[in-house]
Amino acid sequence: MKLAIASNNEHKLAEIKSILGGCFDELLSIKDLGIDIEIEETGTTLIENALIKARTIRDLTGLVTLADDTGLMVDALNGEPGVYSARYGGVEHDYARNNEKLLKNLEGVPDEKRTARFKTVIAVCFPDGTELTCEGCVEGKIATELRGTRGFGYDPLFYSFELGKVFAEGSLEDKNSVGHRGRALRKMLEILKEHLGK
Ligand code: IMP
Repeated sequence: MKLAIASNNEHKLAEIKSILGGCFDELLSIKDLGIDIEIEETGTTLIENALIKARTIRDLTGLVTLADDTGLMVDALNGEPGVYSARYGGVEHDYARNNEKLLKNLEGVPDEKRTARFKTVIAVCFPDGTELTCEGCVEGKIATELRGTRGFGYDPLFYSFELGKVFAEGSLEDKNSVGHRGRALRKMLEILKEHLGK
């Protein structure tokens, strides 16, 4: 069975392939499928946005489709940027601006009050209308300066309590093992195995 993935983000694709690769014959990104669209994330929750993306690509391809939606919730900012994490700095997917705004909004906030969590919702939509969802979470805090060179998005600022470093300083394996998306994907792997009778 083929799995379409409603993303072109190389980092996400690598995480998804390393965890779900064994469950499907082929995993295909939007680009692999020859589709050129920007899906508008008009939902007000992570689950709504994950479902919007998965249903759109499922309807275009007729394939079982997986989508994820992630938010960074910062306690001192009342849960912001949350569902608006991708465009926090004003420009969609401008990671440098997002990080700059996050640091600015947390200026003067002491270390113990910089707690935050990443939450990922995964949705898998089947051509027969079946929709499976689950979520994964990782706890941490927002660093006071950018560190590391790996990953993407808020990785240079997200200090994972379990890793003892920011995600951008860790390897893909480090991030997969404790990260929000890795956790959600491992849950989805179990749900899919049960659903597909594997
Ligand atoms: P998306 O809608 O799932 O692409 O996530 C929204 C935004 O959250 C992205 O544009 C990134 O800025 C950020 N983000 C998502 N996943 C991660 C991650 O694993 N590490 C760091 N930032 C992330």
